[in-house]
Amino acid sequence: MSSSAILSNLGSALLTGEVKVVDITAPLGPETPVLYLPPQFGKNTPQVKVHAISKYDQDGPFWAWNWIELGEHTGTHFDAPCHWITGKDNPNNTTDTILPQNFVAPVNVIDRSKEAGLDPDYLLTVESIQEWEAQHGEIEAGSWVLMRTDWYKRNGSTETFLNADDKGPHSPGPTAEAIKYLLSKGIIGWGQETIGTDAGSAGGMTPPFPAHHLMHEANRYGLASLSNLDQLPAKGAILIAAPLKFVKGTGSPVRALALIA
Ligand code: MN
Repeated sequence: MSSSAILSNLGSALLTGEVKVVDITAPLGPETPVLYLPPQFGKNTPQVKVHAISKYDQDGPFWAWNWIELGEHTGTHFDAPCHWITGKDNPNNTTDTILPQNFVAPVNVIDRSKEAGLDPDYLLTVESIQEWEAQHGEIEAGSWVLMRTDWYKRNGSTETFLNADDKGPHSPGPTAEAIKYLLSKGIIGWGQETIGTDAGSAGGMTPPFPAHHLMHEANRYGLASLSNLDQLPAKGAILIAAPLKFVKGTGSPVRALALIA
């Protein structure tokens, strides 16, 4: 098929609804849960604030507009490699320098909602990924891997979303070995529905926060606080997730979308 036929077929399929666009983004606003780090780490990211400039009033009689205060890593967001110390010297590692081709790619969705529903500390292992591959096919180089846990259904409340007690946060994520395995497959990014790309228990892993440590070391990307992964097939969807072109940005909120047919 010629390249123009591929795109005209896609265009037709979008118009007929044969290809659907699924919004896998959480609402972004003052209610968006933000991370609270242990006190030894000092500063936290602020909650989103919306400041009105005018609203069809004396400050702007015909127009409404706001300015917003938000952290780079807030809500559904993209982690650039420079977010982690292991990725700080990589080429094209900031939101403004990542090649745009990398923002659109096939996506694999590993459904572990049942497991995470039973155990909020659920960790995705190599064996579990291989089991998924035996069922759905191999994870291909250049693709994204997302873990569905249905955790996004907790996104309405910071308390249930972070799910912390005196022992720390309890939320699902990958083991270090799982991330190493996915990198050996050549994936372009790893994402999940929790506040970050790592499990709540990841601070105690080796290395600590392996999804951040290993993915960014390999100059690969992360997506956090994704929603609606229960609407995606295991394989066959196309992920579109482009961070704002913040100069030297370490990450950015995104409107993450998936094309499904
Ligand atoms: Mn982040």
